[in-house]
Amino acid sequence: MASRDQFQRFIFEHSQVRGAWVQLGESFREIGSQAPYPDSVRELLGESLVASVLMSSSLKFEGTLSLQAQGDGPISTLMAECSHDRHIRGLARFDEHSISEEDFEALLGQGRMAITITPAQGQRYQGVVPREENSLAGCLEEYFERSEQLATSLFLFADENGAAGLMLQRLPGHTEEDDELWERVNHLARTVEADELLELDSETLLYRLFHEETVRLFDPEPVAFRCSCSRERTLGALEAIGKEECYSILDEQGSIEMDCQFCHSHYRFDRNDIDHLFTGHTLH
Ligand SMILES: [Zn+2]
Repeated sequence: MASRDQFQRFIFEHSQVRGAWVQLGESFREIGSQAPYPDSVRELLGESLVASVLMSSSLKFEGTLSLQAQGDGPISTLMAECSHDRHIRGLARFDEHSISEEDFEALLGQGRMAITITPAQGQRYQGVVPREENSLAGCLEEYFERSEQLATSLFLFADENGAAGLMLQRLPGHTEEDDELWERVNHLARTVEADELLELDSETLLYRLFHEETVRLFDPEPVAFRCSCSRERTLGALEAIGKEECYSILDEQGSIEMDCQFCHSHYRFDRNDIDHLFTGHTLH
């Protein structure tokens, strides 16, 4: 098997058309094994992770891009996140008894989908993803069209072993020639099969699709499952819950135990930790 867990950007030489490619193997299997996901849920989670990596290529600073959906379907929450250094994590909350259809709309039901960009420093940005198309790729293409005024094509696939995707984007300032190129490469990209995206390495795939164009591939970047949770951040969450609530849990349970929903890391805080959190010093 060729390159897995890799992300790569490319451009069509001397044009305003660019693209990105990603293939996830081990990272996706690790995330997919964090809960007993039914196939249809794991596949949608895989597509979401792929989309988050492809979209993270537009991050111009340190931070994370996350895709979140909430709804009244069998999947109540779907989350996929990718950082500027291509660390990914994700989860889905689902009702196993009501999962029968594999259709995107049926799985998510009515609800809200959003993209959140959280810079390491500075203001968080959130954009709403329209839910008018019956596929994740279709909804995200609409999002780019409306929020960023960027013509975008997304191809997302996942199966039990891996997930992969391809993104094409036409940048502002495009000429008539760029528009023709855009039509041509989209026509070719639409012929891509799931197996090709999931199995072929980037060079072979792009050559197979676009061999009549001059494509410049940038260096591949590794993608890995890495959770950004920490003891410090968990304490931050406790601070947000508030002093009163924390002490009430301590009085009831003797300690506060918290599990990360993305990676199942376990954090335990005793009275000393909570005293320290709310007073800034501990009494011994
Ligand atoms: Zn974690």
